[in-house]
Amino acid sequence: MMDDHPPREPGRASADLLRPPAPASSSTPLVTPIWPSVVWCTPDADAMDAAYDGTAPGYTYTREGHPNATALARRIDALEGLPPEAGGGTMTGSGMGAITAILLGCLKAGDHVVASDQLYGRTARMMTLELPRLGIETTLVDATDGDAVWQAMRANTRMVVVEVVSNPTIRIADMAGIAAAARDAGALLVVDNTFTTPLGFPALARGADIVMHSVTKLLSGHSDVLLGWVGAKDPRVNQAIREAGETWGTTASPFDCWLGERGIATFALRHAQAQRNAAALAERLASLPGVEAVLYPGRADHPDHNRAAAVLSGQWGSMLSFRLRGGRREVNAFLNAAHEVPFAPTLGDVATTLSHPASSSHRALSEEARLALGITEGFIRMSVGVDDAGAVGDRLERAVAAATG
Ligand SMILES: *Cc1c(COP(=O)(O)O)cnc(C)c1O
Repeated sequence: MMDDHPPREPGRASADLLRPPAPASSSTPLVTPIWPSVVWCTPDADAMDAAYDGTAPGYTYTREGHPNATALARRIDALEGLPPEAGGGTMTGSGMGAITAILLGCLKAGDHVVASDQLYGRTARMMTLELPRLGIETTLVDATDGDAVWQAMRANTRMVVVEVVSNPTIRIADMAGIAAAARDAGALLVVDNTFTTPLGFPALARGADIVMHSVTKLLSGHSDVLLGWVGAKDPRVNQAIREAGETWGTTASPFDCWLGERGIATFALRHAQAQRNAAALAERLASLPGVEAVLYPGRADHPDHNRAAAVLSGQWGSMLSFRLRGGRREVNAFLNAAHEVPFAPTLGDVATTLSHPASSSHRALSEEARLALGITEGFIRMSVGVDDAGAVGDRLERAVAAATG
């Protein structure tokens, strides 16, 4: 509840309550300490009351907020440009935790949601299986077409949920059209900014009411922590989401937040380097005879290149996909030969990683549905890291040759 305040400087009464007592020091630690305590003590009932109702700064019980969540949330608030009057974003135990808090905090039975038909798999499942169970209808639309979003609006449409860059097809949503449609319909626009990051897409400045992240991915960057973050412009909406997270239990742990803070310190550096590497690897892959097509927004042959230039302002990102010539046999041969480039169904790591949507993220779709999206057996998605792009390129080139030569 009170997670937007730093821990209070203990006064005389509460200093006795610090267990164990903090060692006396005229200096302060450079790095945020880890505060694993699940509960906070106060001198008396009045002080406890004040901490719970927010009239005095302070923590109460860690599901409702803790210093490590505050420290990390304030960094992401700043990156996303969350206005101070919103009251601060909320950390969650995963990206799905952030989605859960948004949906449960803002929707009720009888509401209608318009969502992109190319969302992260579990988010799509939330739209098609979980929301209907709660009496909330969802219409899925092609987010590259702002008019389709417009057409799908109903009198009871309360929310629009989109990702800016689709996974794994790297299509760019019509963000201007979608923001206008949501605004005119009085619906909350939710942007999952995981792929694009605040450096690629300033969601709140471009019309989003709510922005969220799987902090697990690029913001943390080391594949060693599951975390989410959500922030809403309107303090009431922000409060409703935070309360839903506290009630439904989507809280992030202190240690995870501490790791996230450590990761986010290098986010801008990693982002710049990964993006440079991605542009270089996209060019290199496109030059190989065993590669049918490369999908990278920075390339002139990308189907949404012009829109990407406007939406992403030249921040083309670190995600690319390509189609290897051939089917499953060639894909297996490629992955075996490229074994030094990890084959792992996630993204945003410091290392370049490969994934194969047909056997992982998009396995639930029929082959026809996959092909309609352009996801062939040879379709490979690459999350480009900060490693040596020359060396990664050499490995990929050898593996493509070994599989298709
Ligand atoms: C990974 C991911 C999520 C879910 O995040 P978790 O931290 O794995 O729960 C949501 N949206 C996108 C775009 C993702 O890539």
